[in-house]
Amino acid sequence: MHRRRFLQGAAGSGIAATLGGCVTAKPSSSQLPLSPASLPLSLPEMAPINAYPDRIISTNVCTRPFRATGPRIETETVGKKTLIHNYGHGGSGWSLSWGTAALAESLINADKQTPVAVVGCGAVGLTTAIQCQRAGYKVTIYAKEQPPYVRSSYASGIWSPDSRIVTLANAQPFAERWQWMARMSYLRFQTLLGLTGNPVEWTTMFRLADKPFDDHGGHNIPGEPAYPNYRKELLSDLNPKARDVSPSQNPFATPHVRQFPLLMFNISAYSQYLLDLFYRSGGQIIDRTLTSMADFQQFDESVIVNCTGYGAKALLNDDTIIPVRGQTCKLMPQPEVKYGIQYFDRHTSVYPRRDGLLVQAGAEGDFNNPLANIDPQESIKAVEQLAAIMAEMKR
Ligand SMILES: Cc1cc2nc3c(=O)[nH]c(=O)nc-3n(C[C@H](O)[C@H](O)[C@H](O)COP(=O)(O)OP(=O)(O)OC[C@H]3O[C@@H](n4cnc5c(N)ncnc54)[C@H](O)[C@@H]3O)c2cc1C
Repeated sequence: MHRRRFLQGAAGSGIAATLGGCVTAKPSSSQLPLSPASLPLSLPEMAPINAYPDRIISTNVCTRPFRATGPRIETETVGKKTLIHNYGHGGSGWSLSWGTAALAESLINADKQTPVAVVGCGAVGLTTAIQCQRAGYKVTIYAKEQPPYVRSSYASGIWSPDSRIVTLANAQPFAERWQWMARMSYLRFQTLLGLTGNPVEWTTMFRLADKPFDDHGGHNIPGEPAYPNYRKELLSDLNPKARDVSPSQNPFATPHVRQFPLLMFNISAYSQYLLDLFYRSGGQIIDRTLTSMADFQQFDESVIVNCTGYGAKALLNDDTIIPVRGQTCKLMPQPEVKYGIQYFDRHTSVYPRRDGLLVQAGAEGDFNNPLANIDPQESIKAVEQLAAIMAEMKR
C-alpha cells in the first residue's frame, strides 16, 4: 500500500490496529532499541546542585499552544494552495515532533517535484521540514523567528508526550493518533542518542512527594482541566521502569521518592543539530512574517505546511488555542550533575541540561494565561526551593 495513503487512513482511524507491516510500525517491547527495564536503577553519583539565585544565567517565559481537542493536523484548501495545519501541541511539542511531522507529511498529496513551504521554525516546523525532505520534497522554511528565539527554545526539554495535549473529555477520539505519534517519536529519539554534543540523552530523575504516590489523584492540576494519563494507559511498555527509593537509600529529606530514567533534549545542541540537518539536505530558511490567512496565497509553493505553534492563534484567529504560561530559568551549567528532580508539591523541577541546569517553576494560574512577562521572583523562589532540597540532603 502507498505509504501516504496508508498514513492518511491511519491518521483518521484505527492507527494502532492497522500499523502492522508499515516501516513506522508500532513497536512491541521486544523491538525497543533500549529496554527501559534494563537501565541501571542504582543511585547515581549525586553531585550537589549549586542552587543560588546569583547563578541564574537566563530566565524565560513562553506559552504552550494548548487545544482541548488536541493539535490541529489537517488539510485546508486556500484558493489554489493546499494548506496543511500542524500546530497546537500544548506541552508536548518536542516530544511528539517526529510523529506529528510524519502525519503532516503524509497529508501531502503531490508528486516529489512539488516544492513545499513550511511556515515555522520551532520544534514542529523543523522536524516537519526534515520529514518532508526525507520523503523527497524540496523544502523552504519561512518564519518570523528561528532558534534560539522561537518559543520551542524556552521549553524544559524532556520527554513529556502527554503534557497538556488534550483534555480528558476529548481523550478517546485522539488516543490512537496520539499513540502513533508518541511511538514514532520515541523510536526516532533513540536514533539520536550518542551524537556529538548529546542533543538527546537519557538522564536519571527523582520525583519527590510529601504524600505516598498513590494518594496524588492522578494528573489534575489546580485551575486546569483534567488530562488523560496516556503514557500510563497506552505506552506502559515504553515507560521507563520507575522504582520507589527505599528509606535506607533515600538521600532526600522528603519521605516519598521515585527514581526513573527520563529522555532529555539538550535544546541548544538539538536545535542546532536539526538546523544543520535541514541545511545539509538542501533546505533554505527565509525570514517572513504572515499577518493573515490571505498571506498563504502569496507563496510560490502550492503546498504549505503551517507549523506556527502559538502564533496560529493570532494568524488564523484560532480561539481554540489556549495559552498555558510557563517560566523557566537556567543555572550555570554543572556537567558533574547527572540527575534531575521533580517536586511538584513545591512547584519545582530541575533538569540537568548541558546548556545549564533548567529550573522550572510551575505556578497555579498558568492556564489560559497569555502573559509573557518574566516574574523574577517566581524563578528565585524555585531556586530557593531547590537550595532547601540540597541543604536537607543526606550525603
Ligand atoms: C515552560 C515550557 C516547558 C515546556 N517543556 C516541554 C518539554 O519538556 N517537552 C516537550 O515536548 N514540550 C515542552 N513544551 C511545549 C513545547 O515547547 C511546545 O509544544 C512547542 O514549542 C511547540 O512548537 P512549535 O514549533 O509548534 O511552535 P514554536 O516554537 O512557537 O514555533 C513557531 C514558529 O512559527 C513562527 N511563526 C509564528 N507565527 C508566525 C507568523 N505569523 N508568521 C511567520 N512565522 C510565524 C515562529 O517564528 C516560529 O518559528 C514546553 C512549553 C513550555 C512553555
